[in-house]
Amino acid sequence: KLVETTTWSTSTAHKEVEDGGGRVINLDHGDPTMYESFWQQMGDRTTVVISGWQYISYFSDVTKLCWFLEPEFARAVIRLHKLVGNAITEGHHIVVGTGSTQLFQAALYALCPPNASEPMSVVSAAPFYSSYPLMTDFLESGLYKWAGDAHKFSKNRPYIELVTSPNNPDGSTRQAVVNRNQGILVHDLAYYWPQYTPISFPADHDLMLFTVSKSTGHAGTRIGWALVKDQEVARKMTKFIELNTIGVSKDSQLRAAKILQAVGDSCDPVGSDEEVQPFFDYSYILMEKRWKQLRAAVKNSRLFSLPDFPTAFCNFSGCSFEPQPAFAWLKCEGEIEDCESFLRGHKILTRGGKHFGVCPKYVRISMLEREKNFDLFTQRLSTIQSW
Ligand code: PMP
Repeated sequence: KLVETTTWSTSTAHKEVEDGGGRVINLDHGDPTMYESFWQQMGDRTTVVISGWQYISYFSDVTKLCWFLEPEFARAVIRLHKLVGNAITEGHHIVVGTGSTQLFQAALYALCPPNASEPMSVVSAAPFYSSYPLMTDFLESGLYKWAGDAHKFSKNRPYIELVTSPNNPDGSTRQAVVNRNQGILVHDLAYYWPQYTPISFPADHDLMLFTVSKSTGHAGTRIGWALVKDQEVARKMTKFIELNTIGVSKDSQLRAAKILQAVGDSCDPVGSDEEVQPFFDYSYILMEKRWKQLRAAVKNSRLFSLPDFPTAFCNFSGCSFEPQPAFAWLKCEGEIEDCESFLRGHKILTRGGKHFGVCPKYVRISMLEREKNFDLFTQRLSTIQSW
């Protein structure tokens, strides 16, 4: 029940459950299956073949701080950040993880002093990613403890603030809110990619988390990476992963490298393959279409509202546009107090506001579903006209 799966039981694991008059549409978790059709079109360009004798060692490059980081994967990460302009890699160590989920836990371990008199407070501004409190308190660590909404944090003690930008669940662009001495920031930039938001500047924070799950849609590959300025922090994160899983699957790193290379090739003005649509064009256009479709459905129904986002210039695309987040943060207007239950009554599964530290009038809806399910969802939503 951890991580993106709070209502994912065996009965709802299948997103389309036949149930009487209409099928159940599950938009509760953020499974990025929307990108599947792009990768199908790419055919064998992203096929990876690994023979039985290859990559059998635990080690990748023992001369490097992160000794299990595959050089090919590191090169692909650096190149893609340069092409997209969303993060500075110079002056940062790359630490690879089994998803950014493992790196999140490695970061908490690495950032807390080992002999503090009490656990370090971990905060994030509400609405925050629903897995943060669960992951932080899961092992009941003596090093750190979930302390809730950053807006309400009043202790004059060291703390870690998680800054997610664009934010999951509401898509807002964010900065730290506590801004006090003794604060350590972790920037979760899982969605700082040009299909979701204008790339206004290359991020250059002390500790940044990225993942292929939301950038290319390869959630099942379970690969994330951290860009870490401080060498000691990077070393401790590496130690955490060494003790946790003795490194990170090489097979997965090579697959992720191939995928990131293909994305890089598709948008590199030098030598790009003319037959291939740039990945970020494809994903941007699809997100734009889905947001238009959702806004039209919400307008038609009149029972709901969505956040508005300011237009900003994107250095990557050279255009101005409004963010088109991976999740829709839908509010039930009027008398509906529990939006999740209300939509469940219409066989639409979403995740309610209380998981994100706010009231149940809000729900989070995945925008990354397969086309058929998303279309069915917007059709059904637009026809809900009364409580
Ligand atoms: N951070 C945020 C903000 C996320 O939304 C997610 C995925 N839902 C993650 C981290 C975890 O990503 P991964 O699949 O790389 O573990």
